[in-house]
Amino acid sequence: MGGGINPAMIEKYRNNFLHEVRDNVEEGEWVKMCMQCGVCSGSCPLGPYWDHPPQEIFQMIRANKREEVLSSNAMWMCTSCYNCIVRCPRELPITHIMHGLAHYAKRLGLVPKGQPTFRFAEKFWDNLTKKGRVNELKLGVSLYFLDGFVEGTKVAYKLKMIGYNMLRTKRMNMLELVGGHGIKDLKGFHAMLKKARELEDKRIANNASNG
Ligand code: SF4
Ligand code: SF4
Repeated sequence: MGGGINPAMIEKYRNNFLHEVRDNVEEGEWVKMCMQCGVCSGSCPLGPYWDHPPQEIFQMIRANKREEVLSSNAMWMCTSCYNCIVRCPRELPITHIMHGLAHYAKRLGLVPKGQPTFRFAEKFWDNLTKKGRVNELKLGVSLYFLDGFVEGTKVAYKLKMIGYNMLRTKRMNMLELVGGHGIKDLKGFHAMLKKARELEDKRIANNASNG
């Protein structure tokens, strides 16, 4: 997930966050089309609980509030329910922009400390890319112990009967903890990820030089 950011490239956008988003964020070119009707924020099931619902985020981008947007928790809270997309009168791909902003904040190292979705995303990505498939047992255990050994032990103890029943009914295999099985062409899978990263970096660099 993510590559480096050239500081000189960022400097180019000083005082023009809208253009920075247009060139560096997935679907970011759509932000300028927002007419601030508020339908997305009103449709978002979680919007009222965020620091900034989508309409506000788009307004802040245009108002050049770069640090506030990129260090916000808002885009990490999006559950991809797509309510906003289907209702936006301007057909903005709001969900994708929110995830694009989250990804860009990650690339810049501006994610709020301890952000839970980010922590989960990192664990999930590491787990998935290691063997080309999700090792659910390892992922679950790593999430239990995200906040330390004591917390992890408490959660594991609390859920012990569920674990026991899963073992008993062969829904869980403890051997997955020591290695686990992966996909056939793991080398090809890693080469594909590398290529995708290169293409994405190239696309961003092209956008920036044409912007
Ligand atoms: S629904 Fe669309 S046009 Fe309206 S505020 Fe949201 S993004 Fe902007
Ligand atoms: S996709 Fe995300 S931003 Fe859109 S309504 Fe759902 S949670 Fe809110």
